[in-house]
Amino acid sequence: MAWDFSTEPEFQRKLDWMAGFVRELVWPIETVFDELGHDGFERAIAPLREEVKERGLWAAHLPPELGGQGFGQVKLGLMHEILGSTPYAPFVFGCNAPDSGNAEIIALAGTPEQRERWLEPLLAGDLRSAFSMTEPDTAGSDPTLLATRAVDDGDAWVLDGHKWFSSNGSVADFLIVMAVTDPDAQPHRRASMFVVPADTPGVRIVRDVATMEQPADHFGRIGGHAEIVYEGVRVPKDALLGARGAGFLIAQQRLGPGRIHHCMRWLGVSRRAFDMLCERAVSRYAHGSLLADKQTVQNWVADSAAQMQAARLMTLHAAWRIDTDGAAAARQEIALIKFYGAGVLHDVVDRALQAHGALGYSTDLPLEAMYRYARAARIYDGPDEVHRQSVARRILSGYEPPPGGVPSEHVPARRALARERFAALLEAVTSND
Ligand SMILES: Cc1cc2nc3c(=O)[nH]c(=O)nc-3n(C[C@H](O)[C@H](O)[C@H](O)COP(=O)(O)OP(=O)(O)OC[C@H]3O[C@@H](n4cnc5c(N)ncnc54)[C@H](O)[C@@H]3O)c2cc1C
Repeated sequence: MAWDFSTEPEFQRKLDWMAGFVRELVWPIETVFDELGHDGFERAIAPLREEVKERGLWAAHLPPELGGQGFGQVKLGLMHEILGSTPYAPFVFGCNAPDSGNAEIIALAGTPEQRERWLEPLLAGDLRSAFSMTEPDTAGSDPTLLATRAVDDGDAWVLDGHKWFSSNGSVADFLIVMAVTDPDAQPHRRASMFVVPADTPGVRIVRDVATMEQPADHFGRIGGHAEIVYEGVRVPKDALLGARGAGFLIAQQRLGPGRIHHCMRWLGVSRRAFDMLCERAVSRYAHGSLLADKQTVQNWVADSAAQMQAARLMTLHAAWRIDTDGAAAARQEIALIKFYGAGVLHDVVDRALQAHGALGYSTDLPLEAMYRYARAARIYDGPDEVHRQSVARRILSGYEPPPGGVPSEHVPARRALARERFAALLEAVTSND
């Protein structure tokens, strides 16, 4: 029997340390982030980063030969559950999106020169990056429709296109841009990835798109989602990342583990919202009893606990599958948790917010921000509907129509067969009567 749901004691000690460290030293940053500004934030987290590095927990998503810890997805998942409790902890641990995923892309597909130029400073926290794929004018959920082009022009590639929602694009030193290089190839072999320094002539950062998460106009802040126009952007031939036409393949390899990290981070947020729900339930009194005594609220608590437990086990199982069989073999498990996990996050935060009434809706609690964050989870890295479709297609491909169109479980047909099989017994029973 190999089923085992325990965590090695040595790693559990690391997790326990992380939980205390994040809660005591990183959560407080949330309340003063806007006052600190970009530089103040960097200065505030610098000593924390040093401590994380000393403990060997920096950039744990990469293998040791690339400066990471090589934890594998299960351990990383458990770690992200803790780091996800606040948006700032991943920055302190060198595994914030999109830099961590971009580092994985360069580690996976980059040449030794590209790794030296981009990966090493990215891992050291000296550079910032963005992943620039989604376009305002084509459906991001079907990237075979990408319109951005990269044309081979002698000693250079020339990029033209219009992107948006390139997270961190306005503070990035370089952008990983997905562009069509081979428009006549098979749909999934048309696009390639390029490393484009943000100061290359022709790269125009138009704005950070104001969103539900950041409704006020801001420009050049961490977590912004940049709209970017690429106009005649010339990059040298060695800007191509991986093989020509391999853009989708590389993106898939990056997105699989990234979704595990997202889901575990969402559980970190869910857990925090859940604790608020329970604290409110045992303290708010209305209509003759505490909220904790009302069945609706009890249902919220029980349903949230069940959903979080299910999402956690599903996500850790998907992580284990990646560690055991590779990301490609775990596609179904990953798609399942992407939409299921996003739904759990949404439901738990929604219930906690509701239980707090006006206070939950106000910015005096972090629930309204969590709610806005939760809404985006159902869209980025593939909308719910696409993952559901992919799961359903895979499952349905294992089924065929029954012979003659009669359902396999049709009771009269099964009964007729059973009567044949047990004819002798039935005969005996009848004659005994
Ligand atoms: C907070 C946030 C951060 C992001 N960060 C990045 C980033 O760093 N880099 C980047 O390149 N992109 C990023 N994105 C963009 C994101 O990847 C896209 O929004 C996503 O892929 C969906 O593409 P779209 O917005 O063009 O929606 P569309 O493709 O136009 O889809 C719209 C809707 O159509 C429906 N739909 C689509 N396909 C199906 C289907 N098969 N069946 C049923 N319904 C369907 C879904 O409801 C879907 O939500 C980010 C988005 C958000 C919200």
